Formats: sequence, structure tokens, C-alpha cells
Amino acid sequence: MPRQYPIERTRDIGIIAHIDAGKTTVSERVLFYTGVSHKIGEVHTGDTVMDWMEQERERGITITAAATTCFWTPTYAKGDKNQEYRINLIDTPGHIDFTVEVKRSMRVLDGAVVIFDGVAGVEPQSETNWRYADEYGVPRMCFINKLDRMGANFEHDLTSIYERLTPNAVPIQWPIGLEDKFEGVIDLLAEKAYHFEGEKGEKIIEIPIPEDYKEIVKKRRHELVEKIAETDDKLLHEYLEGKEPSLDVLKKALRVATLKVQLVPILCGSALKNKGVQLMLDAVIDYLPSPADLLPVKGINPTNHAEEMRKPEDSEPLAALAFKIAADPFVGTLTFFRVYSGVLKRGSYVLNAKKNSQERIGRIVRMFANHREEAEEIYAGDLGAIVGLKDTTTGDSLVDPDHPIILESIKFPEPVISIRIEPKTKADQEKMGIALHRLSDEDPTFRVSGDSETGETIIAGMGELHLEIIVDRMKREFNVGANVGRPQVAYKETIKGKAEAEGKYIRQSGGKGQYGHVRLRVEPLERGKGFEFIDDIKGGVIPQEFIPAIEKGVREALAKGVLAGYQMVDMQVTLYDGSFHEVDSSEIAFKIASAMALQEATKRAKLILLEPVMKVQVITPPDFLGDVTGDLSSRRAKITAMGERGTIKVIDATVPLAEMFGYVTNLRSMSQGRGSYNMEFSHYDEVPSNVALQIIEGKKK
Ligand code: GDP
Repeated sequence: MPRQYPIERTRDIGIIAHIDAGKTTVSERVLFYTGVSHKIGEVHTGDTVMDWMEQERERGITITAAATTCFWTPTYAKGDKNQEYRINLIDTPGHIDFTVEVKRSMRVLDGAVVIFDGVAGVEPQSETNWRYADEYGVPRMCFINKLDRMGANFEHDLTSIYERLTPNAVPIQWPIGLEDKFEGVIDLLAEKAYHFEGEKGEKIIEIPIPEDYKEIVKKRRHELVEKIAETDDKLLHEYLEGKEPSLDVLKKALRVATLKVQLVPILCGSALKNKGVQLMLDAVIDYLPSPADLLPVKGINPTNHAEEMRKPEDSEPLAALAFKIAADPFVGTLTFFRVYSGVLKRGSYVLNAKKNSQERIGRIVRMFANHREEAEEIYAGDLGAIVGLKDTTTGDSLVDPDHPIILESIKFPEPVISIRIEPKTKADQEKMGIALHRLSDEDPTFRVSGDSETGETIIAGMGELHLEIIVDRMKREFNVGANVGRPQVAYKETIKGKAEAEGKYIRQSGGKGQYGHVRLRVEPLERGKGFEFIDDIKGGVIPQEFIPAIEKGVREALAKGVLAGYQMVDMQVTLYDGSFHEVDSSEIAFKIASAMALQEATKRAKLILLEPVMKVQVITPPDFLGDVTGDLSSRRAKITAMGERGTIKVIDATVPLAEMFGYVTNLRSMSQGRGSYNMEFSHYDEVPSNVALQIIEGKKK
């Protein structure tokens, strides 16, 4: 079957939002309107909008798939089927503990709509997600939702975006009225105003721009045109000479600037009151990239380790990335993937380049709002899900076996919290192993390890809630009975200074002896850099064949820790000298010698403990402000900002995770149940020495 939609008429986008900003409601409306418009086009079925809405009400829209396909013809194209676009909506979860999921989806989406609550404006999690989008260079636009709510303040929202996210955002729409008087949206570029009528706002009615908005439209349009002109030399030149660019020219220039993330268009509406969502979809078509707009994707050829590229074209060799594994109640395991180049065909064999194993593509499905469809093939730039893959996990590349390439995987943060779990019975033990294995396949920020000394199982993740959910799923979905310990902070160790040390492992007692001898230098690396090993052996004083064993010895020693048994991170280890014995030297001897040298060197280099520090935002009525800030200070918090939102006080702070256990209960009792907070991982920082001492002592017991 040939391609149904040219790549230029494809959009792979995500909707990103702080929890409660309205992502679910917006997504639902998107699927509703796209379903309606798609159906209207199919005249032969004779469906009317109302019929379809009836069916919809009965079945309900599901929006839980990792990627949902829908179709949209821009409203200005007035139902022209040749202008119908395929939009793949990539799911991005809202909760802070799952920011990693946002990151994961950022890797596969080409553009994003960031939703804000029109009352709250920019919230802390929006900032984090914004930074991720920056990291991946994702073109985006803003949708300021909930303008019908009491306290909605569009201009205030704009300011918070400029101040906290980017000065390059620019409104391309203006709301008519606010709060309970919010009635419609003005398109600043086209200078047109709209009302949304019908039961679900499906009828878009153009109205004259209200008299008392003419002035503001003129002013804001002028600012917008100027901003667009500034991104294009030719346009700027003409503009400065007094030539008014046409609507078409302006839209094209705004598209180019948005793709380069030079400008970020801001739109507005109320999903709940069915206002503005269709115009937002038009803007997705107008301003967000198609896969063809992207640079070729880069990867490493696993056979020669050379960097290679694949263009977003069907004629290139296949390169696809598995970005989510989901258990589906009807078909089993679904592996969601995005094709970057080439075509993924049903019945073909592909190479999992990361695992170097072959996978057969049995069935491919596409997910829609309320059904799924079998697919024969998925073309470059498009997404789908494979049924029943065995070996593939999140982040793996599925590629043409004759042209292997490993696409850049998704970088996930390290877990900051861990708990011990213990199966209740022997039967539970086996089931628990399977369950944890399955769950960690699905979620790369969830880790399972065993404590070699006690034989216990330790699970680690991004927060208390994250682990609670996993334990709960283990109990419910896999029927495992388990006892769960108390959450522990995942401390780390590192060094502050530079030092050298020697390690010798020499045994010569008749027969074949052992001989390993190394000199290592350790130096601190920037926070978050992990570990680097440098082989600086000159003149073959240690033969090349032993170097991997030395690195392995170092890695194992780092994992065990020196100060209090926590993993050591953020250091560079240089192997600069040593010696060997023709007969007695062995890999094992070098491994032991290097572990000894590493322990000694780090002890000399001023060892310290690191702890995860969280970014916390607390919201409280003013009456409790003193108590709340006092309590935060006693938790070693650094207060970074104090502000207000209407009559409510907002405190931003960074607080060590160790001090935040049980905070929710505390805050509630302090504020008569009216305070709330949210928190997410910020960075690792040094533990003050008096606290560190207690941790080390506690660990020894
Ligand atoms: P999510 O957590 O981001 O998925 O947000 P939801 O879509 O679940 O919305 C959170 C709450 O806000 C729900 O009670 C919605 O009904 C409400 N909501 C969503 N959009 C709007 C809106 O435009 N106006 C108003 N007043 N409420 C909204």
C-alpha cells in the first residue's frame, strides 16, 4: 500500500502540561474535533456530526495510548481533503515523578503544544519541561487554557512566560473577555474574531472584531509583525521601508522562526468551554514541523563505530526507535516506535542494533481515539506499535540488518530513592522476579538490584510516589505479595581533591603466581558527569590486553563506594603507570590491584557524600506563611523565591530529599489542610559534614 499522506502532511506532536493545566481535556477535544472533521469528509457514510457525537458519547474517547493518530483539515481549508493532515499525538504524562516520561517523548516528537492554566500561569514543572524541550531543540507553541476560570489573567500569563521561560514568545491570538465573560478568540495575524457554537463548540463562527478590542488588536498585531520581521532580513528591510507583508508571507516567516525556536507563538482558549482548540490545531499545521523539516537523524554504526546519518525519507535504510513498551489488555505487549527513515514492514526481519539480535515484525497496529487498525507498513516520519516483540526495550533501535545504526538513545536521570522489598512466600519470590523485570523493561528510571550481602531486593526510582505506584502494580497486575521497607535516599559519594595511589596484587608461592600492579590518579569531574576512565600508559609498561580488566576493577570499586557504601560518581580516573610480569600477570590480578589503588586514591582525595536535592514549590494561604517557611528552614531548605498568586503565597525552595519524607502530612496539619506542594529532582549536592557523619555512622550499624 502506498503512502496515504505525504510526509509534509504529517505532524508528530506532544501536548505538555503541568498536572491539572488541562492536558486531558485539551487532548479529548482534539480527538473529538479531529474525529468529527474526518467523518464529515467521508460523505459516503452519510454520518452527520450529531450521529458521530452520539456514538462517541457511548464509547468514550480513550487517550491513554503512547501515540494516537488523528486527522485534521485546517478550518481555513474548508474541508478540502487534499489538505488533510495526519497528526500523531504523542502522550506525555503530567505528574512530576514522571518527568522522565516527558523527556522520553521529547526524543520522538517533533513539536509540542505547552498548555498553561490561565489562572496560575507558569508553574515550576512547566519550567522543567520547557528546559527539556530546549535540550532537545523542540519547536513549540503555548496554549493558555482555562481563560473562563475566575482569576484568569491573560496578560499576567504572558508576563510569566516572558520572565520565566522565554522572551521570544509572542501572542498570535487575543481573548475576547475573560473569566465568565470569555467568549471567543481573535486571530491577530488575520485580524479575524471567532465564536465557537454548537454543543461542543464544533461550529466556528466568524464575528466582527468587537469595537473595544480594535485598539489592542492593532497594537498587539503591530508588535507581532515586528517580531516576525526581525527574524528575516529581507522581510525586515521591506517592513522598515513601510511595506506591509501579506498574511501568507507573515505566516510563512512565523513558521520558519518557530521551527528554529526563534519565536514561540502563544494561543489561548478554554478547552472545557470548547473554545479555541480547533484554531490551536490549525496552528499545529501552520507552525509546527513535519518530519521532513528535520535534520537527518544521527547514530553510530555498531560495526565500525562511525557516526552515520539517515534522512527522513522512505528511500533510506530503515531506522526506527522503540520509545515505549506498554502492556495492552487485548493484544499483549505493544512496542511503540517511530520510524526516522525507510519503511517498517509487517512480516519483515529487522535488527535490534543495540542488542544485536534479530526481531520479526509480526503485526503492526496504529492507535486511534476509539479503535486500532492493523497496518502493513509504517513510513518515514510516522509512528505505530508492534505487537509481541520479545527482546526490545525502551530506547532500542530497530533497523535494516544490512545498514545497522544505533540511534542516540534517551538519556534518563538516575533514581534518587530506593526501598527494600521482600517476597512474602517462596511462590511470591518467583513472581516478584518476573514482575520487577517486566516493570523495569517498561520504565527506564526504575531499577532493580540485589544486595549481595543480605540477599534482599532493592528497587529504586524517581520518588516515593513512583515506587508506590510500582509496588501497587506489582501487587495488582502480577499478584505478588511483598513486604516493603522504608524509602531510603540514594546518596552518592565523590571526591573533592586530586590524588594518586598505587595498587599491587602479587602472590608468588610456587607454581603460577599472581601479578598486578597499577598506579592511578583520581580527579573530580563536574557534577553529573559520572565517570571517565583514561588510559595513559606509555611504552607498554602494562600490556594493552590487561587494560579492560583494570577499568572493570575501577568500575566495580566505584559501584561499591568507599565512605559509606554508596556509588561513587563524578570523577576521572587515569591509569598512568604500573608494571607486569611475563608469566604471573592475569586479568584478575590487575582487577584486584586497580580496585585497591582506587580505594586508596579516593581516600586521599577528600571523600564526600552527595545527596539528591529537590526543587519544591509550596502554596499556602498567608496566615500560615510563617509556620511554613520556618518549617522549611528546619529542613535545610534554601528559599529561592517568594511570591503570590492572587491571595495565595507561593514559596520556591530547594530542599534535600532526605528532609522531605512525610512532608505532605506535616504541611496539611500546619495549614489546616489548605497548603499544597509539589517537588521534583533538581541536582545532587554535598551533604554538610555533620549530617554526613550521622549517615555514615548509621550505615555502619
Ligand atoms: P490534566 O491534569 O492536565 O490532564 O488536566 P485535566 O484536563 O484533567 O483538567 C484538570 C481540571 O481542570 C479538570 O477538572 C478539568 O475539568 C478542568 N479544566 C480543564 N480545562 C479547563 C478549562 O478550559 N476551563 C476550566 N474552567 N476548567 C478546565
